[in-house]
Amino acid sequence: MSPADAFLTVTDLRARSLSAAQLTAALPRAELDVAAAAEAVRPVVEDVAARGAEAVLEASERFDGIRPAHLRVPAVELERALAELDPQIRSALEESIARVRAVDAAQVRPAETVEVVPGGTVTQRWVPVHRVGLYVPGGRAVLPSSVVMNVVPAQAAGVEQIVLASPPQKEFGGLPHPTILAACALLGVTEVLAAGGAQAIALLAHGAEDLGDGDGLEGVDLVTGPGNVYVAAAKRLVRGKVGIDAEAGPTEIAILADDTADPAFVAADLISQAEHDPMAASVLVTPSEALAESVEAALAVQVPAALHRERIEEALRGPQSGAVLVADLVQGLAVVDAYGAEHLEIQTAEADEVAARVTNAGAVFVGPHSPVSLGDYAAGSNHVLPTGGTSRFTGGLGVQTFLRGIHVVRYDREALAGAREAATTLARAEGLPAHGTAIDVRFEG
Ligand code: NAD
Repeated sequence: MSPADAFLTVTDLRARSLSAAQLTAALPRAELDVAAAAEAVRPVVEDVAARGAEAVLEASERFDGIRPAHLRVPAVELERALAELDPQIRSALEESIARVRAVDAAQVRPAETVEVVPGGTVTQRWVPVHRVGLYVPGGRAVLPSSVVMNVVPAQAAGVEQIVLASPPQKEFGGLPHPTILAACALLGVTEVLAAGGAQAIALLAHGAEDLGDGDGLEGVDLVTGPGNVYVAAAKRLVRGKVGIDAEAGPTEIAILADDTADPAFVAADLISQAEHDPMAASVLVTPSEALAESVEAALAVQVPAALHRERIEEALRGPQSGAVLVADLVQGLAVVDAYGAEHLEIQTAEADEVAARVTNAGAVFVGPHSPVSLGDYAAGSNHVLPTGGTSRFTGGLGVQTFLRGIHVVRYDREALAGAREAATTLARAEGLPAHGTAIDVRFEG
């Protein structure tokens, strides 16, 4: 195959010794980043903050091609969707829910009390966020699996109020997709909004005086969930007014593979994420030129047979995707750490040992039988994961996303006496003597 026909542009780093920052600059990246998308959606977010429901409806007409009759999905529609859900899809959703619940149950943290000195304790309490807004995509594909991935950890954390938003669908009369509504009903979520994109994120964050049915919508404390680059950008804009989870934008898969990998598996996994979005990133990192060539050959067979071949081709040929040739697995690990992929597969000899050395990734999938699409649906792990290199400083969605740690301090008089000298000395050193006085006053008279 001539390079002109290749799906993946090759970057050859074998002869180059680069710092982490230089590596990051040399790697494939999307042209439209979250910062640029934020400027595009800022007017929508500001309009929803100012005008509420009417601004959401206008944006829906513009971006989703429909003005939903109800922004708040009526209860009867949730019940109907569950009653009409295909039994096979219902049991697959139940399986997925059970697996994520099993993993999440182990993440729930009890309060921890440390007796710092006799009579002086600090307790870390974990308190759920009161009201959360969960986003579930529904543009090119509708993702009922994202209902599971958002709702199950929120429920495990003990969140009291859950409101979920997903784009209105033209073919379903302006309601979110029925499988999404059914998944909500299955999980007991009753407050569901027919809103997508930046307008949905703004509505969750700011609330609205009247949703069009005479009732208002209270804004949430935290917005979570995956979405396209506009959703990720809107989350960045509302951050501060509300909390957000990671920027979980267009999906990314990086595969670190050597010549022990099966090229058909590698190609199938690169395609599986490219199927999401023309902006999805599929990156192969390998010390084996022979593997890169056989993956390219496997793509040439698999891509034309795929249902979403145009979208896949656009994603694979885009500047955000490619093959990176490295000198060895040590350089390969430096490359995947610099990239910080949302999903990282390790398909090498001694895969467990290689995976243990990874420090930047949203989630790591180890060995030939742990494809990313397993994690998308039914591994028990969460699929809402950081993109755009943000795995350097944040993890994916989980129970802890919905919890806040509160320190509770309880000292008795003797314990305070033992801390008096250190505290008042530091208060004087900081030029804040009233701080020291607030301690001294308890021992005077
Ligand atoms: P979506 O629901 O995220 O986005 C649809 C909305 O985008 C529409 O309602 C519309 O309002 C808005 N929109 C579309 N074009 C716009 C434009 N030009 N300007 C402003 N707004 C616009 O659905 P989608 O598009 O199918 O994307 C789903 C995304 O979710 C994919 O990129 C997928 O990779 C990603 N995803 C990420 C993760 C993760 O954890 N990182 C997990 C699952 C899915």
